[in-house]
Amino acid sequence: MLYDNLGINEKGHLTIGGIDAVTLAEEFGAPLYVLDEDRVRANCRTYVQALAEYMPAGSYPLFAGKALCFKGLYPVLKEEGMGADVVSPGEIYTALAGGFPAERLYFHGNNKTDEDILYAMDNGVGHFIVDNHHELERVNRYAGEKGIKQKVLLRVTPGIDPHTLQAINTGRIDCQFGVPIETGQAARFVQAAVGMENLDVLGFHSHIGSQIFEAEPFCDAVDILLAFADEMRQVLGFTVRVLNLGGGFGVRYQETDPVVDIPGNIKALSEHLKAGCAARNYPVPQVLLEPGRSIVADAGVTLYRVGGVKTIEGYRSYITVNGGMTDNPRYALYQAPYTVLPADRMNDQRNFVCTVAGRCCESGDLIQENIRMPEAKRDDLIAVLTTGAYNFTMSSNYNRLCRPALVMLRGGKARLAVRRQTFEDLVACDL
Ligand SMILES: *Cc1c(COP(=O)(O)O)cnc(C)c1O
Repeated sequence: MLYDNLGINEKGHLTIGGIDAVTLAEEFGAPLYVLDEDRVRANCRTYVQALAEYMPAGSYPLFAGKALCFKGLYPVLKEEGMGADVVSPGEIYTALAGGFPAERLYFHGNNKTDEDILYAMDNGVGHFIVDNHHELERVNRYAGEKGIKQKVLLRVTPGIDPHTLQAINTGRIDCQFGVPIETGQAARFVQAAVGMENLDVLGFHSHIGSQIFEAEPFCDAVDILLAFADEMRQVLGFTVRVLNLGGGFGVRYQETDPVVDIPGNIKALSEHLKAGCAARNYPVPQVLLEPGRSIVADAGVTLYRVGGVKTIEGYRSYITVNGGMTDNPRYALYQAPYTVLPADRMNDQRNFVCTVAGRCCESGDLIQENIRMPEAKRDDLIAVLTTGAYNFTMSSNYNRLCRPALVMLRGGKARLAVRRQTFEDLVACDL
């Protein structure tokens, strides 16, 4: 099995966090997002403990809400001692509605509107991660109007290519996020920021990409960031207190993906950072990481009901499920790999080569191509693994399909955390 919270029971059914997937689908319907809360908590603890153990006091992980965002997740994150990234007033609203402390929110985004900035300040969002000059000036101005000193981190791009998919690779120089170091623009950005009256500049942020399996690309980023920090100290007398290294540790979508040693990577990163600081006689900054995927992806499973099987003679066979790109657009977007399992007959021989298709009116609405499953039939239950990240948050109402419910599993019990949408929800904004 891909993860140790998955199992097979005596009926040959898939179990998630010890609960029978067939029972879940019968009780809550399908398609269904299942999230193993125990697994989410364990993943949070891995980061919280490793950062506490290896990095300077005050270092902690921030959960990137773009990976998964609904009210019921935030009490879990709060209890586990996480901070949280937010990228929009909607994410701020959701986090606060879930009882998350505003001080522990970090507001991202490359185009925060005036309304966004004011909304965040009025709600006491602790930190802004400032993306560019325009934002810097506006955050300073509004903080002045409100009589506050706003804590900020400055987003810079170290120009690292961690060799991942282009679409999720953001540390390169040529991208719309942050200010590049190499061109000299970041130096001017920092100079402007430290001269601003209403800002408390804590340090820098960089995010180099996603699905990174080793510490090495992060160490490369640290080298560039430290050299830059040292230069800024000499030129401006400004010392970095917080270094936010972004998110991006990878997860296993398929058996062929490596297992990431997160504590080992954080330890290696800490040794690298401390050596780099020692060499420059630079005080070791607090370190923030922003894991999204690696907190929730492996805690999620999507369950679908099979509608039928269609064999195009001489070509291939399709298994059609009652969801698709509306609840998981990632294969349609960039051919993301997933593991698909026959949740109601895990012990059957898998010798039927097929493509799993969704129910949307798009030929690209596929979940996975050319996989091996048992000979399928109508009403089979299919599980797609590792769907906890970037599925729920990227879902849509295309074809006016209702968004699935989301259930959370804890200690062998399931509870509804997001109800299934209804037709009334679909027309709720229509006048
Ligand atoms: C996407 C993103 C993350 C989270 O990345 P994961 O791969 O989900 O860990 C963190 N920080 C920033 C700025 C991001 O854009």
